[in-house]
Amino acid sequence: MRIVESIQELRNARAELESPLGFVPTMGYLHEGHLSLVRRARQECGSVAASIFVNPTQFGPQEDLAAYPRDLERDLGLLKAEGVDLVWTPMTATMYPEGFQTWVSVDELTRHLEGKQRPGHFRGVTTIVAKLFNAVGPDRAYFGQKDAQQATVIRRMVADLNFPIEVVVCPIVREADGLAKSSRNTYLNEAQRKAATVLFRSLTAAVEAFESGQREAQTLRDTMSTVLAGEPLAEVQYVSVADPETLEELSGEIRRALLSMAVFVGETRLIDNKVVGE
Ligand code: AMP
Repeated sequence: MRIVESIQELRNARAELESPLGFVPTMGYLHEGHLSLVRRARQECGSVAASIFVNPTQFGPQEDLAAYPRDLERDLGLLKAEGVDLVWTPMTATMYPEGFQTWVSVDELTRHLEGKQRPGHFRGVTTIVAKLFNAVGPDRAYFGQKDAQQATVIRRMVADLNFPIEVVVCPIVREADGLAKSSRNTYLNEAQRKAATVLFRSLTAAVEAFESGQREAQTLRDTMSTVLAGEPLAEVQYVSVADPETLEELSGEIRRALLSMAVFVGETRLIDNKVVGE
């Protein structure tokens, strides 16, 4: 496994990799969610590259950039064990050189859900992902359904900017009790960790309601809210039943929907989602 830091080293190493090249962008502190993307890429591609970069521009001023967990040595061991060919760990000064002022932003899709709560977040995400794509030049790029809006926004960006890249979105990997795996789960103390299962429990309640024939958007929102309200350590930021393609909130009878939420458990902001319907 080659580990490179500069763009020149990356380009030299990339040139020797077998096609098609699968790429997994991450912010590190890897868990089974990340590794599921790596494994899928390994199965489907001639070679696999991953990046580890905690992207400062996607964090808001009050968010956890400084505290974001990091363990490069461990991450490299995990990637090596999965048979990754190339790991790129760029420096911040490489990605954001002095005088940096060029941004990529996706308009409509980022006005909802996470974009509404985290102004500027997606501008940071799409800018860094475009830069990673330009530097790595992958054939396929692997993202997780855990960040459902991110996946939708990246697909839009890839289509709009004609990146010759196939975006592959992989299912959410969960803990045994349903909590979606996240690097941020390490912030939770024991009581908070137990409370955090409320996101999955509320999604499950709404999925069960949907499967028993409930199609009313607001009733499904209320089902999730009621379960969330039963957990004293959880503070809900939003609960959504949205169109999976446009991400607009739905009302009335629905056929297909993205159920999603953001919830604070203590200082830790957790998200989760599930798509229902055909
Ligand atoms: P991050 O390091 O948080 O930026 O995540 C890197 C990639 O891993 C993103 O495409 C995430 O959606 C994906 N990912 C994170 N957690 C999970 C999970 N629990 N299941 C599946 N994919 C995930």
